[in-house]
Amino acid sequence: MISMDYELAIIGAGPAGYSAAIYAVRSGIKTVVFDKGAGGGLAAVAPFIENYPGFESISGLDLMEKMKVHASKYIKINFNEEVKKIVKKDEDFVIETDKQKYFVKAVILCTGSNYRKLDVSGEKELFGKGVSYCATCDGYFFKGKNVAVIGGGNTALAEAVFLKQVGCKNVYLIHRRDRLRGEKAYKDEIIKKGIKVIYETHVEAIFGKEKVEHLELHNVKTNKITRLALDGVFVSIGEEPQNFLAKELGCKLDEKGYVVVDKQQRTNVKGVYAAGDITGGLRQVITACAEGAVAAFISVEVLGKKYPY
Ligand code: NAP
Repeated sequence: MISMDYELAIIGAGPAGYSAAIYAVRSGIKTVVFDKGAGGGLAAVAPFIENYPGFESISGLDLMEKMKVHASKYIKINFNEEVKKIVKKDEDFVIETDKQKYFVKAVILCTGSNYRKLDVSGEKELFGKGVSYCATCDGYFFKGKNVAVIGGGNTALAEAVFLKQVGCKNVYLIHRRDRLRGEKAYKDEIIKKGIKVIYETHVEAIFGKEKVEHLELHNVKTNKITRLALDGVFVSIGEEPQNFLAKELGCKLDEKGYVVVDKQQRTNVKGVYAAGDITGGLRQVITACAEGAVAAFISVEVLGKKYPY
């Protein structure tokens, strides 16, 4: 296994990682960037992004592709290379990927988050057979069919609108509370598109033999159990931080598992910074980019270099 020396390792190539890479390389930092897949993180599966300045409406995939092209102008990103382990050794870090070992002096964790699961019977068994966590990826297969989106946050609302747009026949939005959590602009679209919102309802189970056939629903107000016949169910109930490396490094986490950082994106471990969704908070593309930039700038403090400002 060959070992390689860099000053900074950026782990994760979503908005935070791309932005950190651009700022780091332009500041003259010898950088390596890893992503276990093709990059883009969860933002790449957003059906559309309409609040990133400069782009009135763009698909998450297109915006992430633009960021990838931009960052790749400065650095060759190690896509499909998964970081398996990080160990702090004195002032350095030893990073082990599925390919080789790297020695670095600073690490920026941009590992993002992943889909939260409903944890009901049928969810696992019918995954890929009507159960999905990504309307952008799978929505088209449900053209002309009946689908439900579970959740009341921005993602659920955006996905419900998207599913109607791709031509699903009936789109239901099933939410456990009596009001939606998402932004007003999305709520207005939900009404405009004729999406049927089912409030105060829990999904108890997902049923189907070869594929999804119906949901068992529990109305928590009336206590009634009903069935809803469907072809597809999109689970959009939020995200969970991918904090495995942060935990391994001894980074302090909040009660939801997000990495605690100061205003300069420092974690409690010297030389380790975190940026983007892994730090919780707003979890927007724009905040992820900003955090990545700050982390890259600040990381020079452990590299024996001066801040560029
Ligand atoms: P979120 O805001 O955390 O919303 C998750 C939703 O799922 C909530 O409505 C929650 O219900 C519900 N939920 C959670 N656990 C559940 C369970 N076990 N069973 C049933 N329902 C459950 O997550 P998100 O919508 O994925 O958004 C994540 C972040 O990305 C947020 O900060 C969001 O603002 C941001 N985002 C922004 C945009 C944008 O364009 N601005 C688009 C997408 C996402 P309760 O309401 O009852 O808690």
